[in-house]
Amino acid sequence: MQFQSAEYVRSAGTPEQFLRDPFPKAVFAGRSNVGKSSVINRLTGRKNLARVGASPGKTRQIHYFLVDERLYLVDLPGYGYAKVSKEERARWAKLMERFFRDEGPRISMGVMIVDIRHKPTADDVTMFQWFRDSGCPLVVVANKLDKLKKREIEPALACIRETLGLRDADTLIPFSAEKGDGKEELTAQLWDLRDAT
Ligand code: GDP
Repeated sequence: MQFQSAEYVRSAGTPEQFLRDPFPKAVFAGRSNVGKSSVINRLTGRKNLARVGASPGKTRQIHYFLVDERLYLVDLPGYGYAKVSKEERARWAKLMERFFRDEGPRISMGVMIVDIRHKPTADDVTMFQWFRDSGCPLVVVANKLDKLKKREIEPALACIRETLGLRDADTLIPFSAEKGDGKEELTAQLWDLRDAT
């Protein structure tokens, strides 16, 4: 199972630029530097589709990628970067508020990316709740698996489950954008969405 094609479509910095289109949308969110771009690149088999950020906090826009000509991967701007100004932070919050208000009911799947090494932050919990409130199916990707020792994995996953309040219907995938672990499972989660137009 592998997506055949992936292309960048557009970026939205204001609600007017949100993409309104009948294709299903899988929406990706996570803290700056968690590896969101790397996960999208790994998933699509494209090294540079989503920019792997040298300057976290600079990408304040929503990016839309189209895979297999019928499923959008929607890359929300990262959050939680300490050096971002108050104004930038407020702009981010406003954009997210509008996104979830306008687009929430049309999110086909929420893909929340966290760092497997750390307890999810308060920002992660808030973002997760926005997805929860929109009622979409949820997948949590615990990235940077390669950085843990084997015996550390289960406790780390349990901590993520507990902190985010995952339910049985939610999927938690240990993932390494670097090595490729979890790619099959995440692809499988997104696969059927392509046919849900
Ligand atoms: P973004 O800000 O969330 O889009 O994060 P990036 O994709 O730019 O990645 C941030 C940093 O984490 C980069 O230096 C990546 O090489 C690194 N990174 C991303 N995923 C992994 C992973 O699975 N394992 C390891 N070891 N590093 C990763």
